Amino acid sequence: MPTPIITRFAPSPTGYLHLGHAHAALFAHNLAERSGGRFILRIEDIDRGRCRPHFEDAIFEDLAWLGLTWDTPVLRQSDRLDIYADALERLREMDLLYPCFCTRREIAAEINNAAAAPHLPPTGPDGPLYPGTCRRLTPTDRQRRAPEPHALRLDMERAVGMAPDLAWTDHEHGTSNATPQIFGDVVLARKDVRTSYHLAVTVDDAAQDITVVTRAEDLLPATHIHRLIQSLLGLPVPEWHHHRLLTDATGKRFAKRDRAVTLRELRDERGLSPEQVRALAMAG
Ligand code: GLU
Repeated sequence: MPTPIITRFAPSPTGYLHLGHAHAALFAHNLAERSGGRFILRIEDIDRGRCRPHFEDAIFEDLAWLGLTWDTPVLRQSDRLDIYADALERLREMDLLYPCFCTRREIAAEINNAAAAPHLPPTGPDGPLYPGTCRRLTPTDRQRRAPEPHALRLDMERAVGMAPDLAWTDHEHGTSNATPQIFGDVVLARKDVRTSYHLAVTVDDAAQDITVVTRAEDLLPATHIHRLIQSLLGLPVPEWHHHRLLTDATGKRFAKRDRAVTLRELRDERGLSPEQVRALAMAG
């Protein structure tokens, strides 16, 4: 008997689920089921500006229609801001966070200026790295500006210095050492909500005892950051399985704005059955 695996599917209710989501959900569900383990559904709704209640209702409805079942109660990230605040507090006590008052426009301007210099500004998986402007503020300036809206950034160099072992294993890509420094000083608490995808997902995967984190391979680079956060917070280290990203016939990734491939459209307009959609999602 294999070791029971705990997996999760963690959609954000910012649109209707499409075939790519069906693939991710079925992949996680089947992996857990084959091992006699558990499949967890988590609602990642920290982006209050983009999340909508009717999209959340549709997630439950569409997954049930597909034939999936999951553990209850379902955890919603918007209910867990206190938990993320505790994690931030621990990182702050380790002197690993600093407030960042920059607007997007200011960051872009600074990066543009740097681009005019003889050396190109460093770039990571998400684009040019944050130039470190607010890391260099004096304690007096930080104090003076404290009432202004600000994000919290991780002092990446310090953080990596405190995390000697960052080995991680992916079922597809093998074992390697995380190199989170490729992202620079990432945001761990946004200006509008006191957490971020990276912090919330890492804290929640640990809180829900996830043993294999499954998701599409476009999120593979993010794992470098998650592995670092685990190390800093002393969280258990799961395994990962980054699976292929489903694309349409032209090789383009599915997006929530492509109505044609939402599960509702396939069901209501094209009259497909759950079996047919499951087969489409897992084909190829
Ligand atoms: N909430 C993320 C999304 O909808 C997925 C996060 C993850 O699986 O780690 O893209």
